[in-house]
Amino acid sequence: MPSGGPEIEQLIQLLARLPGLGPRSARRAVLHLIKRKDQLMVPLSAALDRAVVAVKSCEVCGNVDTISPCSICADPRRGESGILIVVEDVADLWALERAGVGQVRYHVLGGVLSPLDGVGPDDLNLEGLIGRAGEYGEVVLAMNATVEGQTTAHYITDRLGARTCA
Ligand code: ZN
Repeated sequence: MPSGGPEIEQLIQLLARLPGLGPRSARRAVLHLIKRKDQLMVPLSAALDRAVVAVKSCEVCGNVDTISPCSICADPRRGESGILIVVEDVADLWALERAGVGQVRYHVLGGVLSPLDGVGPDDLNLEGLIGRAGEYGEVVLAMNATVEGQTTAHYITDRLGARTCA
């Protein structure tokens, strides 16, 4: 049953939308924040405010950073390998970085082609990819092994192939 005012309920509902948090965990997290208001809730609120202002989407690759071009695109050593890894989502990029893939660059599509969900080529960051793929010796398509991921990979291969021939 709801306990606490509308501000607390709203906070619980917002937190419950985060991946990995359901309503129960969100309620527990909010209670934890309230109990540690000065040590946790106030700094968290300030950090969120700062992040809202600072966060940018990289104009080159689609990564999320506080600068654009992002720190990966701005690092000249990253370009020397000649490897461009195409991923579906920023989360995939961050996972590859954590895994220590090496001095590579990325391109974030922002999703996959999905006719059933109404996601077409214009909804993805594809033109940016086609524009920059020529600068790299190797373009690695790291889409997920789903039907949509593989359809997207085929589509990109066709488009990059056509570009190469033209
Ligand atoms: Zn970037």
